[in-house]
Amino acid sequence: MVNGAVVMLAVNIAVGILFASAYMGVAFANRGQRRVLWFGVCYLIGTLEPAGDLLAPFFGHSSMLDWISHFCFLSGLASMSLSFAYFHRKPVPWRSFVFVLLTGLLLRFLISSWPQDTLAYGFGYQIPFTMACELDTFIVLRNARKQPLYLLLGAVFSLTALHFLLKPFLLVRYGGGGTAVYTKTAYALLSQASSGFLLLACGILLLILVSHKALTDSRLASEMDSLSCIYNRRGFDHKAATLLQDAFNTEAIVTAAIFDIDFFKKINDNYGHAMGDRVIVEFAAALREAMPPDSVLGRIGGEEFAALVVGHNAQSAWQYAEEVRTKFPLRLKQELDVSVSGGITSWISGEQVSELMKRADRALYTAKNNGRNKVVIAEEK
Ligand code: GH3
Ligand code: MG
Ligand code: MG
Repeated sequence: MVNGAVVMLAVNIAVGILFASAYMGVAFANRGQRRVLWFGVCYLIGTLEPAGDLLAPFFGHSSMLDWISHFCFLSGLASMSLSFAYFHRKPVPWRSFVFVLLTGLLLRFLISSWPQDTLAYGFGYQIPFTMACELDTFIVLRNARKQPLYLLLGAVFSLTALHFLLKPFLLVRYGGGGTAVYTKTAYALLSQASSGFLLLACGILLLILVSHKALTDSRLASEMDSLSCIYNRRGFDHKAATLLQDAFNTEAIVTAAIFDIDFFKKINDNYGHAMGDRVIVEFAAALREAMPPDSVLGRIGGEEFAALVVGHNAQSAWQYAEEVRTKFPLRLKQELDVSVSGGITSWISGEQVSELMKRADRALYTAKNNGRNKVVIAEEK
């Protein structure tokens, strides 16, 4: 008859494979999320342990199989920390990982001649798993930056680490037996159920975290201009609305600037599109360099750029804009000087982004109509 422990082992194998498939699915469906693949690999490696336990009765008692499944589970748990660091493009904790694996191997070797079903044996068996989960907890919390999902995942990893330390007591209470009879023990049922439940919780939280990051990354990418590496129109409008709302709440002053490169069409027509692109890149660099660091910068049209400057009035922002303008006249070629015109206006508290930018645009066209290569402050309404 099939017993509970066997069912739990089968469930854990199925859950492990499902998680591995889910992570791999996320990795293959999103080009920018290939690193998620490694979470899938961790789950696959870890799943070899219940698979080994389930198969053990069919192969007779084999200490080799026992060692391999123990090592796989330990590697699967500890390599979560590697995957997590790699996922966040942080230094991968190789040394701690190797330390955990070596400690695991050493302890496994030491306890192999000890009597089973004792506290000492249980601790020798479980302590490496606790170390692996503590390493995972540390790496998750290191990347948490107070984000609730990370803190929750860290807490569940930590709980998983602690639960391994309870298992020696269960072992003494119920008896784990040798590997060959493991699946027939109450200990196996409790052990598989508790670890399975906690690793299921870790897997779900991690999957939510990974999917959330994939969505955030793709939203950020959709708001950036790949040529100038500043916000595109959509990103600028989004950031500008947030900035104005914050300014409204904190009663901060904000000034808007719009720039438009002069006779840009001629650059394209006379020197080619690639030269036009180069001018765009150079202008964005000049804008980034000259504007205060917390400004919101965007390329809001082909050769049109915008900046929102917080904490500066129109006169002060004009000075920044002048710095951009005077920095910019690029001598791309002997006979080619490129200039830019700009318009500046102060935000009227409560005003929408579109109204503010319309007024800045009018000032820009005054600059264009008055000979270009200058920055004009909008007249008071
Ligand atoms: P003005 O001084 O009045 O601003 O004249 P202009 O020639 O700069 O303005 P106009 O609006 O006539 O031309 C803008 C040109 O910018 C037309 C369009 O082909 C070009 N353009 C738009 N996006 C890009 C781009 O990404 N790369 C390049 N190279 N050109 C672009
Ligand atoms: Mg234009
Ligand atoms: Mg232009």
